[in-house]
Amino acid sequence: MPKILMIHTGGTLMMRAGADSRVLEPDVYARDLLAELPVLRNVGAIDTRILFNLDSGDVQPHHWVELAALIHQELDAYDGVVVVHGTDTMAYTASALAFLLPGLDRPVVLTGAQRPLFEVRTDARTNLVDACHIATLAVPEVGIAFASKFLRGCRATKLDAWGLDAFATPLCQPLVELGLGLMIGPHALPPRTVGAFDPRIDPHVLSVRVFPGLNPALIEHAVDSGVHGIVLEAYGVGNVPVQESSLVPAIVKATAQQVPVVIVSQCPRGGVDLRRYAGSNAAADAGAISGGDMTTEAAVTKLMVLLGRAPQGRTLEYVAAAFKRPLLGEMSTNLPYE
Ligand code: ASP
Repeated sequence: MPKILMIHTGGTLMMRAGADSRVLEPDVYARDLLAELPVLRNVGAIDTRILFNLDSGDVQPHHWVELAALIHQELDAYDGVVVVHGTDTMAYTASALAFLLPGLDRPVVLTGAQRPLFEVRTDARTNLVDACHIATLAVPEVGIAFASKFLRGCRATKLDAWGLDAFATPLCQPLVELGLGLMIGPHALPPRTVGAFDPRIDPHVLSVRVFPGLNPALIEHAVDSGVHGIVLEAYGVGNVPVQESSLVPAIVKATAQQVPVVIVSQCPRGGVDLRRYAGSNAAADAGAISGGDMTTEAAVTKLMVLLGRAPQGRTLEYVAAAFKRPLLGEMSTNLPYE
């Protein structure tokens, strides 16, 4: 019988509405999940830990480190880990875990639900069963099990706040598809040797979605006020304004202070080509780093982890080198440009 560790962090799956309110709040975990869903016992021998009980809107980088440390410490004793998590920031947590865990030789499966487990009509039961099942497979990745798919965590984004198929990896095929049978994608990573855990992460990152009218002084002020890294969600293939309200001086200023500026695209499909337009070209000349076709979630978490580990005085060089290549399949290597 496979052994599974199920770590609870909160989210809708275990929430319920108060007696006289429709506001969903973290439940007290008074109800036994395995008693509610005894079929899970057929999938594996499940040990349960309640690490946090948060709406995932309240999850912070230090929670990622705590969660990663627990997984790293317990991994050896289990065939796989399931993390029950709120959907709102699940893609951030999945990305952060991918970058924080030093190698992985078995699956870490995040799951949650759009509707609570204790409601009659819910996606929680299927997602939990699928997640536990995936945790027993030879797919050594951090991913999200949702709506009959297992998606690479550092490629995922929450695209739907209403439908039950909430997550997508627009630029990466599912790692596993669960239909009548089960299909594991050929791109799933091979097992990687597990190293020592490094808890360092620097959360002083600012992510800004570029829009017409964005005042560049706000980004310069952010640099002055101690931001250590910036993710710019630029237009299309990485374009930024260079005429009125040009962002180039802000990029020059950040770069001069060893504050990396990573550019990703606002478009869920397609990646950054900093040499295609005058705006992206000027950003590159000013020192901006291409985030390729990474999601914002992956770029922000990768940047936080890299900033935590960058050698003193060599931050830019260290971050730029690590954004040139995928560490865990978080970006494509075969973009049709660059
Ligand atoms: N607000 C919830 C959370 O992210 C939403 C969910 O779990 O679906 O914790």
